[in-house]
Amino acid sequence: MAFPYISIDLDKIEHNARAVVDLCTQHGIEVTGVTKATCGHPDVATAMLRGGVSSIADSRLENIHRLQDAGVNTRYMLLRLPPLSGVDEVVASVAVSLNSELPVLAGLSQAAMRQRRVHEVIVMVDLGDLREGIWPHDLVSFMRKALKLGGIRVLGLGANLACFGGVVPDKDNMSLLVELTHKIENTFELKLGCVSGLNSSGFELIMAGRVPKRINHARIGEAIILGRETAHRKPWPGTDQDAFTLHAEILEMKAKPSRPVGTRSEDAFGHVPQFRERGVRNRALVNVGREDIDVNGVAPLDSRIEVVGASSGYLVVDVTDVPGGVDVGDELAFNLNYSALLRAMTSAYVKKQVFRGGVCLDDGL
Ligand SMILES: *Cc1c(COP(=O)(O)O)cnc(C)c1O
Repeated sequence: MAFPYISIDLDKIEHNARAVVDLCTQHGIEVTGVTKATCGHPDVATAMLRGGVSSIADSRLENIHRLQDAGVNTRYMLLRLPPLSGVDEVVASVAVSLNSELPVLAGLSQAAMRQRRVHEVIVMVDLGDLREGIWPHDLVSFMRKALKLGGIRVLGLGANLACFGGVVPDKDNMSLLVELTHKIENTFELKLGCVSGLNSSGFELIMAGRVPKRINHARIGEAIILGRETAHRKPWPGTDQDAFTLHAEILEMKAKPSRPVGTRSEDAFGHVPQFRERGVRNRALVNVGREDIDVNGVAPLDSRIEVVGASSGYLVVDVTDVPGGVDVGDELAFNLNYSALLRAMTSAYVKKQVFRGGVCLDDGL
């Protein structure tokens, strides 16, 4: 194939989902599979569902519509806070959304009543990571108003950690979430069914048996997709880290000095790159670049190959240490981290090839 492409191994995704769901189930935690790093790829969502996740969540309505249009039949959760300007579409598209703003909840309430539906919400609490959520101190007054809105059913509380501020879930912040749950239940004399406290950063805590019992729901993306927990990015035992592989073709293969020749200024991206003096090296230009990947997040499968840098359309790799060398037209394969995967899945220039049982179901062309 002339294009760079990602090969997606659905069996590995299903296997990873099953490993994650089995562990969480043992600890009383229900798992919603998160597809956002794959732009809501329908085959990926279906593999997650085969692996046992109870529902699918994504941060973008476009991705959820893609899944629905492809016939993936499940319960959908919107992860990113709904926009005030889009409440009708949110109510029409998903069963559940995560929320932290009263004007938006009021809008969702109006939309739900107009559409004669009940829209379910999880109220997000900020436990210190400083992305979305109500500050704990403000939660009771928020809930007092939220619980009065028609057309809305508050399923429970949620929290998202390790995304913006890098705060990891621990016994303290999880206990705070449970305390807040009790406080809301006692103040308003109701029962909250869902306490959605965890994402892929929670696995060490789950494994250690240190998640408080009331936490009963997790929204899991990376641990299923790339087989890693995200507090320390450790491979998760019993999962595969290579469900996704990037393939790209060598366009130029030459021996060149290891440092640029001439007076130097900024590169195309405003940086002044530094290069070690290593003598003449064999360098390959590959047909994938910053437009398609996060250069710091790709690792050649052949560990003797080293990424030197990239421009928008080229990845430059040093292949000097590959015995026998490589040639123009050869294909190189790369493992991807979350950031590189997200960008590659989003790039229209990178084709997506889907495999199940060793058979190519879709070549992405
Ligand atoms: C992306 C996201 C998740 C999934 O996070 P992973 O680290 O991939 O498991 C969960 N919850 C929210 C709100 C998200 O935005």
